[in-house]
Amino acid sequence: MTTPSSRPQVLCLSGHDPSGGAGIQADIEAVAAQGAHALGVITALTVQDSCNVRRVIPIDADLFAEQLDLLLSDCRVDAIKLGVLGDATQVPVILRTIEHCRVPVVVDPVLRAGGGGTLAGDTTAAALMQHLLPVATLTTPNAAEARLLVPEAIDLAACASSLLDRGCRNVLITGGDEDTPEVENHLHRRDLPATTYRWTRLPRGFHGAGCTLASATAARLALGESLETAVESAQRYVQTTLERSLRIGNGRAIPGRL
Ligand code: PLP
Repeated sequence: MTTPSSRPQVLCLSGHDPSGGAGIQADIEAVAAQGAHALGVITALTVQDSCNVRRVIPIDADLFAEQLDLLLSDCRVDAIKLGVLGDATQVPVILRTIEHCRVPVVVDPVLRAGGGGTLAGDTTAAALMQHLLPVATLTTPNAAEARLLVPEAIDLAACASSLLDRGCRNVLITGGDEDTPEVENHLHRRDLPATTYRWTRLPRGFHGAGCTLASATAARLALGESLETAVESAQRYVQTTLERSLRIGNGRAIPGRL
């Protein structure tokens, strides 16, 4: 008889995307590809395809809490990844979970889908900003999300400073949605100069790249990598997944994560 092995475990709190491009399926695949195990609790169901999101249906906060309470009484958690929030009533439950686990937390502040559909209303975005970013080890907004989170900032560096001032320990602003010849991602840390990573821009948009990056980074942190190493190795992984992307419908291709 063989003894079961174990892997670092990443608690993924994410929405369900039936296309399998983004959300919890992206997390499970990306986490598994790093050699870790995903524990998945769904924040919201969505009506969407590979083109756009039509509707977000939050999971009731009591049901969400019940799943977490049972899971956490049984399973070890080595990192947490937070994606789409169902609504603001889930925030106290998530804060309790973060407090209980005391592990690195990667927050992907998902506000809008690449297709333009809304994934978080104003109240949810405000709750994320006020309560969850301050307890994040790392947040990974794309450039558009960073500007939405800090509308008064004059540029992306000012967005990052403002997020750091509010308590978030590290900010990675990704530039896949910008108009630069290469994709430029900027890591901002407290009291250190920013680091810029440059990646070949591939000639298409993708659905689920942001979820893949955030969950791969959380898995790398769960494996014990430093923040800088995790951020770099997760970006390298994402670039590989985009180079071998899958066409699943009429919209954007999804990362080939496995
Ligand atoms: N649906 C869910 C459940 C998500 O978590 C996300 C992104 O995090 C999206 C859709 C949108 O993904 P994209 O902007 O890559 O299309």
